Amino acid sequence: MASITGLTRNGQVWTPKFATSIDIDTCIGCGRCFKACSKGVLELTTIEVEEHYLEKDIMTIKHPGRCIGCGACGRTCPKNCFTLEEVEL
Ligand code: SF4
Ligand code: SF4
Repeated sequence: MASITGLTRNGQVWTPKFATSIDIDTCIGCGRCFKACSKGVLELTTIEVEEHYLEKDIMTIKHPGRCIGCGACGRTCPKNCFTLEEVEL
């Protein structure tokens, strides 16, 4: 199995790193990653925080199949929530 790779405009091999998970414990629901993603991968969701009987907004990877592995979400996140990884075909 080989990692998914692409080519830059001048023909150099480029290995994208796809968004595979978001740490919901550190996510503050700020939405910066949502604005940075051009492919409609992410969606804000409200979850219950049981121990405090409160609700909290967190970002989720709603459409992982749309991800092109550009890494913009991870670069814009102030809490370093994203795991970005090479993915095998
Ligand atoms: S890696 Fe790029 S395409 Fe994938 S979720 Fe992040 S910003 Fe969107
Ligand atoms: S940028 Fe980071 S902290 Fe903000 S919503 Fe996205 S994953 Fe959560």
